[in-house]
Amino acid sequence: MEFGWTDRERAFRARVRDFLHRELPADFDRIARHGPGSREQTEFSLDFCPKLAEAGLLVPHWPAEWGGHDGTVWEHFILGEEMWAAGEPRGAQYMNVNWIGPTIMRYGSEEQRQRYIPPMAAGKAIWCQGFSEPNAGSDLAALRTRAERDGDHYVINGSKIWTSYAGLADTCFLLARTSGKPGDRSGIAILLVPMDTPGIDVRPIPSLIGHGDIHEVFFTDVRVPVTARLGEEGAAWSIITYSLANERVGIPRYELSARALDGMVRELKARGEFGGDHVRQRAGRAAAACEAARMLVYRAVDTRARGQKLGTEANIARIAVIKADAAVSDFGLDFLPDTYSGEDHPLNLAHHERAIVAGIAAGAAEIQLEIVARRHLELPRGA
Ligand SMILES: Cc1cc2nc3c(=O)[nH]c(=O)nc-3n(C[C@H](O)[C@H](O)[C@H](O)COP(=O)(O)OP(=O)(O)OC[C@H]3O[C@@H](n4cnc5c(N)ncnc54)[C@H](O)[C@@H]3O)c2cc1C
Repeated sequence: MEFGWTDRERAFRARVRDFLHRELPADFDRIARHGPGSREQTEFSLDFCPKLAEAGLLVPHWPAEWGGHDGTVWEHFILGEEMWAAGEPRGAQYMNVNWIGPTIMRYGSEEQRQRYIPPMAAGKAIWCQGFSEPNAGSDLAALRTRAERDGDHYVINGSKIWTSYAGLADTCFLLARTSGKPGDRSGIAILLVPMDTPGIDVRPIPSLIGHGDIHEVFFTDVRVPVTARLGEEGAAWSIITYSLANERVGIPRYELSARALDGMVRELKARGEFGGDHVRQRAGRAAAACEAARMLVYRAVDTRARGQKLGTEANIARIAVIKADAAVSDFGLDFLPDTYSGEDHPLNLAHHERAIVAGIAAGAAEIQLEIVARRHLELPRGA
């Protein structure tokens, strides 16, 4: 593995940094503090992403045909690192550019591509991901929401839970069962459902992690044309396996952790409280956790960049990212507990909230550990 950046990659990172320096308000941490699903951050993203698009930095990794510049896997990743370091000003739109757009390009009909890709490339579309259900999270194939065929329509009934961004989303990337029983992977379809379709009821779930972040979404006799289906009936499993494999490696959360940690150390120094061995060792351990996460994620991205199949290195990287989040959050809570109340340290609070969900959202940490234990370490299964 080559650890150095090429001139082209360095120049690309500099362009992204320049843009952020120019366009991101100095107090963006206060906006990000509300959470990526909040009205504040969503409105911000609808102003920020079109400017990013105009600068050629919203979808540089997409094909030129769809508004991109055919950028490399590493350029895409550098963009993600810089956005995370800044507090992810793209808000919910990170999903569009990372996996929803590319999935529609690959599997969508011409009509779907023409309808959905241009608004994403312009930075003007908010999507939500309707996968999890009350009894189908880690075990996603257990989902029960049904889409029954009625002529040239599907009629959808059921409910989703923990749906991020649903309150302000235009469209839902929905998984629904068209046949088979819960547990049957081959009976699931993907439907692209406009959120203003009659019969959809969105209810926010009050939570610790920001306003308007997570929701329940109820579907009662929701009618969508058959043309809303992405890919074939029953093909959902292979499509989402393709789209999420890359997405789940590629969230460089350690950048936000490292920036939060730097701010904590600065604050402790300013208070004259960074002298003792204990605090310095703990800060060192948290910094090392962030670097370990970075290196393990780079290993997974490198595998992807070489066009090789990702194995357990992706799961290992995710565990390392979760651990880095926790190490920084624990450090802040132990040495700067007062910064977690009030509004003076928005980054510490925002980071802490992201750290709480790091091991749950996008797949629980225990599942990752289970995969590593079984496939990588080849440990025997417990009794
Ligand atoms: C902030 C946030 C945002 C989210 N956004 C979305 C979204 O936009 N769209 C969406 O569809 N979903 C979303 N989710 C849901 C998320 O994907 C699920 O919470 C996650 O997949 C876990 O599923 P669950 O909540 O049903 O928990 P369960 O699957 O019921 O798990 C409960 C506990 O049991 C453990 N467990 C379960 N099975 C195993 C096993 N086989 N081995 C070992 N341990 C196991 C888990 O690790 C966990 O600790 C979000 C969740 C959060 C917290």
